[in-house]
Amino acid sequence: MGVIETAGREESAQERADAPEFRLDNERLAFRFTATLTDRGGARIERLPTPRRLDDWLAANDLVLADAVATVEDLALAHRLREAIHRAGSAIASELPPGAPDTTLINSVAGDSGVYPQLTPGGMRWRTRSDRPVRAALGIIAIDAVSVLGGDERRRVKACENPACTGLFVDTSRARSRRWCSMNFCGNRAKKARFRGRSDTREGP
Ligand SMILES: [Zn+2]
Repeated sequence: MGVIETAGREESAQERADAPEFRLDNERLAFRFTATLTDRGGARIERLPTPRRLDDWLAANDLVLADAVATVEDLALAHRLREAIHRAGSAIASELPPGAPDTTLINSVAGDSGVYPQLTPGGMRWRTRSDRPVRAALGIIAIDAVSVLGGDERRRVKACENPACTGLFVDTSRARSRRWCSMNFCGNRAKKARFRGRSDTREGP
């Protein structure tokens, strides 16, 4: 078991070097998590290809509750949770109710996590009673999904208008006029496409 695990870890260290970088620019944890699969309507870039990359993502988001390494099962649950949040969020962005299988999964990951908030001098910190810290961390993401998809912000949940993207975000703009998951990604792509369109018209026959 030890040998197999070591071999697996060495291999994933190589995969880690080759893995796509994370997109961490979304303010909402649950939607930052759904952004680990990007270009859903296009090339589909999987940014959590291995359990090791799930560990890396949790560390990058300050969600390491105790020493633990993600297993293949943890990664499978992470992918299922992520897609449930994305489907539920997309439904809500279209003013439709989320599907029952998705809400059931989100609720069960949230409910089984054994996490609870604590006030510390540095602010709020999550703790867990669970002996499975990776599952507990997924629980924190599920709790954030319940909060954003079930609370006051749900009316501001939107899907990026880039059809190749469909990334979720909360539109906190006053006029509720935000269209893109991120100006740095889809906003700029759209701007460039518009610019190209304009110069095509100008240069066209
Ligand atoms: Zn986008």
